Order: sequence, then C-alpha cells, then structure tokens
Amino acid sequence: MPDTIRPDPLWFDASLCLIGSDWRPAASGETMDLLNPSDGSLLARIAAGDAEDIDRAVMAAQQARDGDWGRMTATERGRILTRIGQAVEARAEDLALLEALDVGKPLTQARADVTALARYMEFYGGAADKITGETLPYLDGYTVYTLREPHGVAGHIVPWNYPMQIIGRSVGAALAMGNACVLKPAEEACLTALAFAHLCRDAGLPAGALNVVPGRGAQAGAALAGHGGVQHVSFTGSVATGALVQQAAGRNVVPVTLELGGKSPQVVFNDADLDAALPFLVNAGIQNAGQTCSASSRILVQNSLYDAVLARMSAAYEALSVGPALDDRRVGPLISARQKTIVEGFLDRASDLAVAARGHLVDAPETGAYVLPTLLRDVPPEHPLARDEIFGPVQVLIPFTDEAEAIRIANGTDYGLVASVWTENGARQMRMAKALRAGQVFVNNYGAGGGVELPFGGVGKSGHGREKGFEALYGFSQLKTVAARHG
Ligand code: NAD
Repeated sequence: MPDTIRPDPLWFDASLCLIGSDWRPAASGETMDLLNPSDGSLLARIAAGDAEDIDRAVMAAQQARDGDWGRMTATERGRILTRIGQAVEARAEDLALLEALDVGKPLTQARADVTALARYMEFYGGAADKITGETLPYLDGYTVYTLREPHGVAGHIVPWNYPMQIIGRSVGAALAMGNACVLKPAEEACLTALAFAHLCRDAGLPAGALNVVPGRGAQAGAALAGHGGVQHVSFTGSVATGALVQQAAGRNVVPVTLELGGKSPQVVFNDADLDAALPFLVNAGIQNAGQTCSASSRILVQNSLYDAVLARMSAAYEALSVGPALDDRRVGPLISARQKTIVEGFLDRASDLAVAARGHLVDAPETGAYVLPTLLRDVPPEHPLARDEIFGPVQVLIPFTDEAEAIRIANGTDYGLVASVWTENGARQMRMAKALRAGQVFVNNYGAGGGVELPFGGVGKSGHGREKGFEALYGFSQLKTVAARHG
C-alpha cells in the first residue's frame, strides 16, 4: 500500500443524506451495505433513502432556488464552483482512494477521475458568467432579446461506474446555470458523491443548492425521476432504466437528458499508424474493466492489417494484469458479483467464438468480482457480442473489406455514442466522420482524454441531450424571449 493511504479513508459519516444544511439518516432509518468489489468486504453502511427523503430534498432545493442560491450572481456562482474545484484538488488523494475502494477502479484511474472532477468545476466555474442571450432584429418599435434561465430543481441520477466524472459534468453544469440539485448516487458506489457534497458545503455552496440522497433505484431513483417539483432530470445508466426515467419525467412534462452507453467502434483502415493506434484500441476497451459508457468494445479492422492488429492486441491482452484496486494493476474487479454474473453470461454465449487472448489475475482474492479481460476474434457483426453492450472487459475483433462495409458494420447496432477512425487518408477521415452514427467521432485517437470541453452524448439507444462543454449549460437552462414594444 502506498503510504499516502490512511487506515480509515472515510473522513465523514457515510450513512447520512445531505438535505438542505442537514446531514441526516434516511427517514426510514434503513441502510444498505456498500461492498468493496476488490474483496467483497463491507466498506460502509449508507442511507437507503426513499420517496420521503427525496421529497424533503426537493423542498430544500426549491428553498435554495427561491433563496440565497437563486438570487446569487452568475459571477459569484462561478467563484464557488472554482473554490469547489480547488477543494477537490486539495483532497485528491483521499477522493481517489474512496473511488478506488468503492468502484474497484485501479488507483491511477481513480486519480484521473479526481482530476476530471476538479477540471469540470474549474471549467463550469469559469463558464458561469459567460452565458449570454441575444438581441433579435424585429418589427420597428420593438426591442427583442433572450434570457437564459435555470430550469429550477434539477434531478441527477448517477450510475456507479464513474461517479466523480458524471457528477462533475452534470451537477457542475446545472449549478453553473443556477439550478438547485438533488443527486441520487448509485447504491453500489456513492462515497465520492457524499465526499463531494461535504467539499461543496465547505467551499461555501449555500444550503439546498446540492442535496444528496443515496438509495435504491426503484425507490429513491424512481421518486426523483417522477417528482412533481423537479424541472429537469439527467440520467446516466442502462437503456431499460433510462426509458423508465423518461416515462416518469414525461408524466410531469419535464425535459430529460439520457446517457445510456453504447457499443462504440474503432475503425482501423489498412493505412493506419498501428503504433499510434494500439494503446487506444486496447485501453478504450479495458479502462475501468470495460464498465465505461464510451468503452470501445468493437474493433473493426480492414483485411490486410487484420493479422497484425490481432497479433499485437493479443500480445497486449496477455500482458494485462488484473488485481485489487489498491494494487493498481491495469484492470481491477467489476463493480459487483451481479455485474460479474452479467458479463460471464455474455462470455457463456460466446462459446461459438474464438478467444484470441486473455489477461491474467495477480493476487486477486476469490471473494472479489474479477473477470479476465477477453479479446474475441473474427466475430460476425450480427453476433450478440458484437451488438449488445457487455459492460465488462471484453472486446471483439471484426474484419472488413472496404469503406462501405466498415460504415455498415459500425452503424449496425442500436447505439451511437462514440466512434473513431484510424487512417492517414484525409479525404477518408472526413467521409467517415460524416458517415459514422455517433455523438462524438474521433480521428486517429479515441476519447480525447475525456474532454471536459467537448459536447458528449448519443444518438439512438445511446440516449439524447448533450453534456460537457458549453452545450451542457444550454441543456440545463431554458430560453426566454422578451419582446418589448416601445414605439
Ligand atoms: P441502472 O441503469 O439500473 O442504474 C443506474 C442508476 O439508476 C442508479 O443510480 C440506480 O439506482 C438508478 N435507478 C435504477 N432503477 C431506477 C428507476 N426505476 N428509476 C430511477 N432510477 C433508477 O444500471 P445498473 O443496474 O447499475 O447496471 C445494469 C447495466 O446498465 C450495466 O450492465 C450496463 O450495461 C448499464 N450501465 C450503463 C452505464 C453508463 O454509463 N451508460 C452505467 C451503469 C450501467
């Protein structure tokens, strides 16, 4: 263990919800066990909030919106967000440790998530007072302008795979626009959500601007999505739950941002720079043990380069070590025994496919949720493993002959979150960027290192709405048109 790690990583009481200015247990008094996926041990007992806690949190958010927080200037909101970002940086190692223990993420990856959270706060802190309206030419005797206004109370339902990053991009943008937030973290991983809320209050965020209610999806999550006092819902998670959230919010005619994962392809042409591509091809599949909405789980390779990619990716897979998060190997455990069962179920359905290579376990306790990273070769594009989101460290290699076939295969799933193209041919880069059905397309890279500044979101079953960058600020606000007739 590095000596920066303290014996007790919890510097706060993890069994409480933040509602207004109060840290309090769930109204029911119920708690849930939070397990360490690296070894199955008990990490903490967290509040099992339900509809009553959500109701109180929404009321606290409404009071903040109608009170100090709602009246604050955009500049002052931005300063508070900037201070929160600095507080995150100051506690970086503590936050990384919590995320590693809670999510099972190797420490290096958890540290990168802390950096991203701080960067979101810095970005949205700086952006808060840069959002302006327009003046519009209209009839003689009129002055017309637009105002960007917050929705009011914003509900955030967050999954377990990247708690800090997803809180950064959704809560950060919503607060920058002046919304008051109710955050429902995932029952499997919520320690950094609670830690973040402490840092927000310490940095001067007024009471009620951010409320945090851990709880089960079917209780706290459903109550938040369908609450009549919520004016915007942002959700990241599975397609099935996203559809439920949209239905619940729809009953109140409330806008929803859905980010539902994908089956994102990297398309490698014969003329690609394979040395440059290789780290991106592998890392985009195994980062966070493949439990990444924008994971690249399909690698499409043109015929002449196929054997070289197969050989080099196989060698890379054989070198992948898998172990507990604090050992900081390339791959950690999955989030839970349940997720391990889901991923193993996919691999059982791959018995007709050829395994090219697998990683190896190093000092991994049997009680942890480990799945060996697995590279599958020559996978038919219509096979379920080439079409369904697995959400585990599994990548499929699919050969193709020409550009038209590559586009057909790449666009041949229900999803459309991220795609990349690897080619030195500039015209082909441009054609592919247009043809690929995805919310983000990368040319000769993948993921652009997270890209806080870059609008992100999907098409098709990957969801709708855009997060990150300035675009998120438009999503977390509504436009009012003011037409003044003065003669
Ligand atoms: P999920 O979509 O059920 O959970 C995500 C969040 O939604 C959690 O906070 C959960 O408590 C909440 N939730 C659950 N039911 C709800 C409801 N009825 N109303 C409102 N909120 C509710 O995902 P999961 O069960 O944790 O994982 C299952 C699969 O989802 C994974 O295998 C993976 O394919 C996918 N997933 C995708 C992402 C992503 O980043 N896109 C993240 C997590 C999971």
